[in-house]
Amino acid sequence: MAKQSGFEHIRIQTHGMHLDNKKYTRSLIEAGIDEFFISMAGSSPVAHDAITEVDGSFHRTLAGLENLDEYDHVTCITNTVVTNLSYKLLPGLVDKLSRFKQLKQMEFWVYFPMSENDNKNLVADNLEILPYMLSAIDKATELGRHIEIKNFPQCLLKENGCMLVNDQPQLFIDPVFWEQFERNGFYQCRHREACQSQQCLGLSTAYIEKYGWQEKQLHPI
Ligand code: SF4
Repeated sequence: MAKQSGFEHIRIQTHGMHLDNKKYTRSLIEAGIDEFFISMAGSSPVAHDAITEVDGSFHRTLAGLENLDEYDHVTCITNTVVTNLSYKLLPGLVDKLSRFKQLKQMEFWVYFPMSENDNKNLVADNLEILPYMLSAIDKATELGRHIEIKNFPQCLLKENGCMLVNDQPQLFIDPVFWEQFERNGFYQCRHREACQSQQCLGLSTAYIEKYGWQEKQLHPI
């Protein structure tokens, strides 16, 4: 239906495990899907499976990427949620996925709890994330991959600040999502008034409660 309605690209967002089935993958591609947005939680079976809580998930998702690599017109994009559990894994993840030729873009979405506090203790310190993020950016850029980062202070990224893309396409979703999204309390920053950034979400309420304002480390653009 999407194809017949004239959509130029049709994407699915998936953990990718079922793509290990070649026949199933082919059926999706023949139906018109040309973009696969695949969640990668970690850089190794142990780390990835611990986060997904599904034994064997890392191997299955990698097998799925392997299958997709056979289709030249298909674009693969990975998405990794950056949490306390995953930020140190980012450079290794780029290395691990370096062989996939259809992988054109890697996205790093820094976790936000959809709440005023970090009850699950997943929000990581941006200053600790930074060196791993920069290393992952360098490695992925060297491989010719496009990078998108979400929910990270643009000023910390310096010359890589253009990789911060917090825009979303028009989203048709249960309105409850937006009520919860508001609870993050984005756009807080001691430098907000002075800062010209159009993309930065600043800090969230949960982040400030946990790590403070970090105003000495942040610099208005
Ligand atoms: S100064 Fe604050 S608002 Fe400006 S880029 Fe840095 S974190 Fe974002």
